[in-house]
Amino acid sequence: MTRRIVLIGHPVAHSLSGAMQQAAFDAVGIDATYELWDRTSMQIADAIAEVRGDDFLGANVTIPHKERVVPLIDRSTEDAVATGAVNTITREGRRLIGHNTDVPGFEAALDKLVGRQKMPRQAVLLGAGGGARAVVHGLIRGGFQRIVVFNRHLHRAEGLVRHFAKGAAHMELRAMPWHDSIIESELTRTKVLINATSIGLLGDVSPIPAEIIPPGLLVLDLIYKRTRFLRDAEAAGCTVMDGETMLLHQGAASFTLWTGQPAPLEVMAAALAQARAGGLRSAEGEPAGEEAATSEEAATSTAG
Ligand code: NDP
Repeated sequence: MTRRIVLIGHPVAHSLSGAMQQAAFDAVGIDATYELWDRTSMQIADAIAEVRGDDFLGANVTIPHKERVVPLIDRSTEDAVATGAVNTITREGRRLIGHNTDVPGFEAALDKLVGRQKMPRQAVLLGAGGGARAVVHGLIRGGFQRIVVFNRHLHRAEGLVRHFAKGAAHMELRAMPWHDSIIESELTRTKVLINATSIGLLGDVSPIPAEIIPPGLLVLDLIYKRTRFLRDAEAAGCTVMDGETMLLHQGAASFTLWTGQPAPLEVMAAALAQARAGGLRSAEGEPAGEEAATSEEAATSTAG
């Protein structure tokens, strides 16, 4: 029987995850197909129920549903509980287990960005959605002592801070209102700057003005293209990285969870690079096209 894995999100068309995972299954000789399911919030419960079927190995969950699926599954593993967000589902009989492989994906990206330098202790984070939760968990686990979270809707950043309060009791985790002057002031006190908003996903726009980015920061954009934010940061004299490394490593961790086998990382990296060069776009990194701009959820979350 051909096994099925689905990516559930809205939108999901032209997903790079599909190219990456299908190449991995083919390379290790597992008879499986990776399908893209574009599902709105109203359709999520039915989609999750379907994944309980015998032909499914599991699923990926992407924007904007990572937090929404948590109550629909039967058990969450440590990273999923810690973040309150699920991006990978495995199946044990008819029971569904939720995981969050964005966390190890982010940790791999951060390690690569920091390189041989000493791991910094302060970070400024833009955004407070599902991706931001994986970032905060990874930063806390990485020994960061001060993390400041800015979000358009302050209450969501405050909710994130409350969620992590227990595990962050030993350090400073703060939500702050989104004002350029406050962000500018915080950027003078930090070493790491991360964009976990979806600003830059649809258009060539940056979440913050170029003038407030000081030189010398380590800058990561979860979006995996050369966004205006990254171009501005590079021009300011920062070291920059896009979201491809995170995508690759979250995908590799998901592959291992579904199959119990080590992921063929080089095959996956090559498939990603090829898909990216070919102009394919992903629910994790870029919108699916016109439908992303017009869908009601994409319009409100902008994450697509
Ligand atoms: P969510 O929908 O959960 O969160 C979206 C975030 O973007 C929120 O903080 C939201 O703020 C903010 N935002 C959206 N539009 C605007 C706007 N116009 N102005 C200000 N803020 C805005 O999405 P995710 O957290 O899952 O994903 C966020 C980004 O990270 C996406 O671009 C996604 O592609 C990327 N990502 C990449 C991964 C990778 O492997 N490389 C993994 C995970 C995510 P508010 O709360 O105020 O609406």
